[in-house]
Amino acid sequence: MSRTYVITGAASGIGKTTAELLRAEGHTVIGVDLAGAEVDGDLSTPAGRHAAAEAATQQAGGTVDAVITCAGLSLPKAITASVNYFGMTEFLEAMRPALAQSTAPRAALVSSLSSVQPVYPPLVDAFLRDDEAAAVGIAEELAQNEQTGGLIYASSKQAISRWVHREAVTERWAGADIPLNAVAPGVVNTPMTSELRATPGGTALIDTVVPMPLGYHQEPESIAKLLIWLTSVDNTHCCGQTIYCDGGAEAVLRGEDVWSWNNDAIAQKFTELFSQLGR
Ligand code: NAD
Repeated sequence: MSRTYVITGAASGIGKTTAELLRAEGHTVIGVDLAGAEVDGDLSTPAGRHAAAEAATQQAGGTVDAVITCAGLSLPKAITASVNYFGMTEFLEAMRPALAQSTAPRAALVSSLSSVQPVYPPLVDAFLRDDEAAAVGIAEELAQNEQTGGLIYASSKQAISRWVHREAVTERWAGADIPLNAVAPGVVNTPMTSELRATPGGTALIDTVVPMPLGYHQEPESIAKLLIWLTSVDNTHCCGQTIYCDGGAEAVLRGEDVWSWNNDAIAQKFTELFSQLGR
């Protein structure tokens, strides 16, 4: 069955590969990017996001089966906060009416292994409050210093994964039968990483912060195929997840910690649920 996809960042890297694979399978893809896609749009501003969503919806004839948000920046600058977080979440929200017209709507965002690297909590909080002015202000301060500028990217990606986890189970997404998930890549061979990968020093740096024991750096196809499955009709129950496709980097960095989180809080949650049952 042919489906209609809207993909941001479709002119390069992961977004471009995803669009190519989907088209080869006979699907319709409406790409959104600064230039070189079906919709020229700037996702760094609210006006740009809404205009791009409107143009993509119009080109799709009002019904969109899946939205995949890939557009992103890794610059240690404030614009990274706007594009990576609000350029995904606000754009997706603006696409919801078109998704609601589909019989099998799906959405997937591109997070990053950086979501488990050090972040700047006040910036993550500003993202999750949907306060773009505050987030940009904090990011501008972080960008003043080379050491702290890198926290903008990791913070934006942790916020994306947390937004997906929080929003996916709500009436607006799961309640509307829209599985919402994220993919978190390790190092991918795209223009975003080419400069770093070009020198031994840069390669050593990324291999230290993104240790990938399986498969090493990956081509964009591995991420694209995961995004395609998450947004296919085959995905009936994967919901709210960030799927790390990173050669094992997340497992190396977090180890057993992922299972030790907040046992008291989950016990409390079950106590509340059982008390609602009157037991
Ligand atoms: P890329 O640079 O090849 O592609 C990113 C695309 O986003 C470009 O086409 C660019 O024009 C577009 N974009 C940037 N700013 C925009 C704006 N304001 N409005 C519209 N489009 C804009 O990079 P990629 O590696 O394909 O990255 C895709 C996603 O994957 C990003 O969100 C990135 O953070 C994430 N990611 C990449 C890697 C990696 O190693 N390459 C790792 C983890 C996560």
